[in-house]
Amino acid sequence: MALRFSYVLHPFLLLLFSSSILAHNEEDPTIQIMEEFSGYPIHEPHSSSSSSLSSLSVDTESLQRQIDELSSFSDTPAPSVTRILYSEKDVLARRFIKNLMGLSGLSVREDAVGNIFGRWDGHEPELTAVATGSHIDAIPYSGKYDGVVGVLGAIEAINVLRRSGFKPKRSLEVILFTSEEPTRFGISCLGSRLLAGSETLANALKETVDGQNITFFDAARSAGYATDREDLSSVFLKKGSYSAFVELHIEQGPILEEEGISIGVVTAIAAPASIKVDFEGNGGHAGAVLMPHSRNDAGLAAAELALAVEKHVLESGSIDTVGTVGILELHPGAINSIPSKSHLEIDTRDIDETRRNNVIEKIHQSAMTIAKNRKVKLSEFKIVNQDPPALSDEPIIKAMEAASQELNLTHKLMISRAYHDSLFMARVSPMGMIFIPCYKEGKLVGTVSYI
Ligand SMILES: [Zn+2]
Repeated sequence: MALRFSYVLHPFLLLLFSSSILAHNEEDPTIQIMEEFSGYPIHEPHSSSSSSLSSLSVDTESLQRQIDELSSFSDTPAPSVTRILYSEKDVLARRFIKNLMGLSGLSVREDAVGNIFGRWDGHEPELTAVATGSHIDAIPYSGKYDGVVGVLGAIEAINVLRRSGFKPKRSLEVILFTSEEPTRFGISCLGSRLLAGSETLANALKETVDGQNITFFDAARSAGYATDREDLSSVFLKKGSYSAFVELHIEQGPILEEEGISIGVVTAIAAPASIKVDFEGNGGHAGAVLMPHSRNDAGLAAAELALAVEKHVLESGSIDTVGTVGILELHPGAINSIPSKSHLEIDTRDIDETRRNNVIEKIHQSAMTIAKNRKVKLSEFKIVNQDPPALSDEPIIKAMEAASQELNLTHKLMISRAYHDSLFMARVSPMGMIFIPCYKEGKLVGTVSYI
């Protein structure tokens, strides 16, 4: 089932028109700036006159064909997609995107980790550019729209503008972010984190290996990146590098589809954190070691901590606080053996950073108390990442709402509870996100990616 691109891309197009939405105007800043940027008259919402923008024609057939073709670069059979960072299929998919960028007249550059930028120079190229983009890597057995609509959709949006004879004032850039998914190296949004200037990550990557013990830099070099040295500071962008960044992405949830709404206007991206915990006990034979006092069962410590995570999250009193133990492993994993080691991975998120951090602190306290009471060792409590939330830029939100109204599309203000490259782009640029419904399509072809 194809997405109805003709309508979902239109607000996106309007936004690309809107460029620097930061300037101010007493009457209607959004519309004034859209007009100033585009050179087209933008009508008031619900205006009775027809809009020149709504007549812009998206080539839905070739866009769908491109999505289908890109999905064929996969390590698992169709309709699933598996495309892991720097794999052969990833390199081929990147080549496919660079080729499309070239055909759209964009000048293409890549940075040391393979973030790809396709630039359309505006007629005032010295002004900061407007950027849009997403990712094309795919977790095992993923769907074909996750991330991809934000890259191929952006290229088609530029094609539409070109076909209409439009020439932007500011330059437009389409960005393909490297490794939004954590599959290979356990780091989500690797490319955009680096663009946002994460020195911590740049240093950590020097020691990072994948499940096959291949170093990050060897993997990057095999794909043609990071060829010079292991200094990634060239990837960092300065704050203010773009006048606006907008990401088009599938909602990855049921709300838009269930409510029959076309466009989700993202107001904030929840603050994610992930924690790794290890408990160690003495183990022993399931029959020979008596209960309860002679045991120190690392498995039960993990089970107790999993319940504590749920308790602390619920205690926050907010529906926006969530916590999940998605990984729970027991060693040695035999039915007649008391677990001597347990490993948990905990994901917790909130739109309120302080509240989320309080939950992390409570989980830590519980882990220490459980270890003490059960006489097991808390051998690791590692906060893998603890990111702040991101708020969408208010003028971009207003522009998205105005664009939806202009095109008579229903829309809804939403919080993104999954995180995206936009979370990190918000550190270097005013940011906004557009969600589109694509829930069942994602489900039909296996899991959709939720990070
Ligand atoms: Zn995604």
